[in-house]
Amino acid sequence: MANENFLDARTQCCIAGGGPAGLMLGYLLARAGVDVVVLEKHADFLRDFRGDTIHPSTLTVLDDLGLLEAFLELPHQEVRELTGDVFGERVTLADFRHLPAPRPFLVLVPQWDFLDFIANEAKRLPRFSLRMSTRAIGVIEDDGVVTGIEAQSGDHRYRIAADLVVGADGRHTTIRESAGLASDDLGAPIDVLWFSLPRDVKNDPDITGGTIRAGAMLVTLNRGTYWQCAFVIPKGSLETLKQDSIESFRKKVADIAPFLDDSVPALASWDDVKLLSVQIAMMPRWWRDGLLCIGDAAHAMSPVGGVGINLAIQDAVAASNLLAQPLREGRLAASDLEAVQRRRQWPARVTQRAQVAVQNVVLSPVLARTAQPDRVPLPVTLLQRLPLLRRLPARMVGIGVRPERVRTKPFA
Ligand SMILES: Cc1cc2nc3c(=O)[nH]c(=O)nc-3n(C[C@H](O)[C@H](O)[C@H](O)COP(=O)(O)OP(=O)(O)OC[C@H]3O[C@@H](n4cnc5c(N)ncnc54)[C@H](O)[C@@H]3O)c2cc1C
Repeated sequence: MANENFLDARTQCCIAGGGPAGLMLGYLLARAGVDVVVLEKHADFLRDFRGDTIHPSTLTVLDDLGLLEAFLELPHQEVRELTGDVFGERVTLADFRHLPAPRPFLVLVPQWDFLDFIANEAKRLPRFSLRMSTRAIGVIEDDGVVTGIEAQSGDHRYRIAADLVVGADGRHTTIRESAGLASDDLGAPIDVLWFSLPRDVKNDPDITGGTIRAGAMLVTLNRGTYWQCAFVIPKGSLETLKQDSIESFRKKVADIAPFLDDSVPALASWDDVKLLSVQIAMMPRWWRDGLLCIGDAAHAMSPVGGVGINLAIQDAVAASNLLAQPLREGRLAASDLEAVQRRRQWPARVTQRAQVAVQNVVLSPVLARTAQPDRVPLPVTLLQRLPLLRRLPARMVGIGVRPERVRTKPFA
């Protein structure tokens, strides 16, 4: 049982969660002259299999902040097109080269490197404070207004009073729950199994994309010395799959993508395979007086398109554009919080609808198939024949709808 050892503090904005949304918002607000405390429950940013794709929308934000060149010095891979092998037909699914962005490609970088990078930049700012190993337990309320966060670090309990509390604590959010705000589950018919396999740098193909066969889909991200793999399964079917041996799973993977034949033995047991239980959810209302939720806490995304980090960053940029000045001047109003939801809910909804469409129209029918189709589906043929068409998925994945630019200036 923890000591009730309160080390109370006061700040202008207290953010629960040091993921992409929370750290970026903390950085942007502190840069714009707002006192910020970010609480992160883990001691570091190391996590297995988190989203590792930084899209042109986020690269544009980093460029706005003058951080792009330094960011690109981190070890990374660059993806200019997504390719697919659809029932044996090789096709370019998305071509990013034409996007209107300073760097028209996806960057693959471990999420912890990205978070370390943002955290290190933020720590240079006098108004920024990051408390690692500190868990937000819930919001503090006074007369219906959220006035702070109760947090715990080791045996110590803190109360941090704040003009604004931000729930950026991901899809299993404590802040949203403790504030009594609802979230609607939109359902998802798939789960994803994540694992990595060694990559033969000399002989393996240099591709990032997906392979579709009757009853199966595998995404392989080229990470230089390894493949990051996502194996799509019908929702809730992992336990059934696990009734077979890991050997039979290895064989399934190698049958879909024969270039992995030599590397599948690296899957020693089912412990090497991690389940992502896919969820798509949306809060009908993202805010209360004194509280705002952003990122996965407000709208959990499907991994389709790998857009989760990037939408979380877009939320952070919009929130700082709209809130930095009222927060700095101590005149934050409910209408400012409502404005953030108005600005960001629509792009999140449009993206989720596109993800639901891909899940229902492409993924579920593929997983239900028992035999290869007689011919390649028409949309695939069209993508193959009409290069202009490939710009559409590239735009949706790489930039999305209603892209945000940083409007705040560094505070002198
Ligand atoms: C397996 C997997 C693969 C994915 N692949 C991709 C991909 O390729 N590309 C992509 O763009 N997106 C991907 N995503 C989604 C992406 O990771 C999320 O959409 C994105 O990280 C959301 O950012 P966020 O900051 O809102 O939340 P999160 O990244 O979930 O961050 C929340 C943070 O809050 C902390 N936290 C939670 N509770 C508390 C608490 N009570 N107190 C203090 N801290 C707390 C957590 O430790 C975490 O650091 C993937 C997700 C998963 C799980």
